[in-house]
Amino acid sequence: MKDTLIFDVRNIKDWDFNEYEVEISPSQLEFEIEDVENIDQVRGSVHLLRHGDNDVYVKADVSTEIEMQCGKCLEMFRSGIAATFEVQFTSDSGTEKEQTEDIDEGERYFDGETFDISEDTRRALVIQIPVWPLCSQTCEGLCQNCGTNLNDEICSCEGTEDVEDNVSDVSSPFADLSQMIEAAKLENQNKTNNSKERFRKNGSS
Ligand SMILES: [Zn+2]
Ligand SMILES: [Zn+2]
Repeated sequence: MKDTLIFDVRNIKDWDFNEYEVEISPSQLEFEIEDVENIDQVRGSVHLLRHGDNDVYVKADVSTEIEMQCGKCLEMFRSGIAATFEVQFTSDSGTEKEQTEDIDEGERYFDGETFDISEDTRRALVIQIPVWPLCSQTCEGLCQNCGTNLNDEICSCEGTEDVEDNVSDVSSPFADLSQMIEAAKLENQNKTNNSKERFRKNGSS
């Protein structure tokens, strides 16, 4: 078990395939994110393949567990996140132009001896954190009236059911359309009635 994401490849031979199990503390990764707490150890496996004198191909599978606040019921809950990423390192400095611009996307320059994938690991995991975390897909959220967590108990607020009905209407793609048609019908009827009335009035006077 390796407790760092810095790899020394000086002793890795060409086409040697190496696999490392890693376990890193989140503080070591500077894995600190707003609204995310109690981040577990980051665990995973890192595969290294050297090809040629200059290039090392890296593939990493990493995962951890974090605590977040549900966006609907506001309860804290734990959830696993996992990421896979690949990096191609090269120590072939080549021409000056290659150093600055021409290195392939995803290919990084290293000194030919050691490289560090801590930052890659942190970034790969951070983008797995949901922007709108939900404790479950079926989370009922809070009553908008009394604040009761509707996952735990049902409150006796009036209008709670109406709110739910409206929500389910909106989820139908045709709900808005049918409402618009109804509204248009009513408007037309009113117009017709008004003009009839006006006609009658005009006629009678
Ligand atoms: Zn929830
Ligand atoms: Zn309520």
